[in-house]
Amino acid sequence: MKPDTNCIFCRIAAGEIPSNKVYEDEQVVAFKDLNPQAPVHVLVVPKAHFATLAEMDAEGAELVKHALTVIPQIAASLGLASGYRLIVNQGADAGQTVMHLHIHLLGGKPLGEKIV
Ligand code: AMP
Ligand code: ZN
Repeated sequence: MKPDTNCIFCRIAAGEIPSNKVYEDEQVVAFKDLNPQAPVHVLVVPKAHFATLAEMDAEGAELVKHALTVIPQIAASLGLASGYRLIVNQGADAGQTVMHLHIHLLGGKPLGEKIV
């Protein structure tokens, strides 16, 4: 899981490309989505590169576990006391556009109709 120099989220994680960070620690970074779909739309990104859950190894699984562990704290810091939604797009049918695993954190208003 070495950084991919062509990967935009690896470059954001390395600080090579600017982003509007709302949280960072050794394992994950969270920053505002460039094209927000809700009043609060943040991407929570493991710093190590893997494209999808299918490519996740044991180390990657620990990073995702850590991301899920810190998300309540990130959500609280963003004022999402009344709830939020997490989305992980996987592959073409889900419309995944950045092939570095990321968790969308959406909130700030009552969200659209649930599809699941
Ligand atoms: P996905 O469709 O799940 O792959 O989501 C990729 C997300 O990354 C989209 O919501 C984009 O708006 C967002 N995005 C792409 N490039 C950047 C960037 N440089 N900074 C912040 N968000 C980005
Ligand atoms: Zn990457």
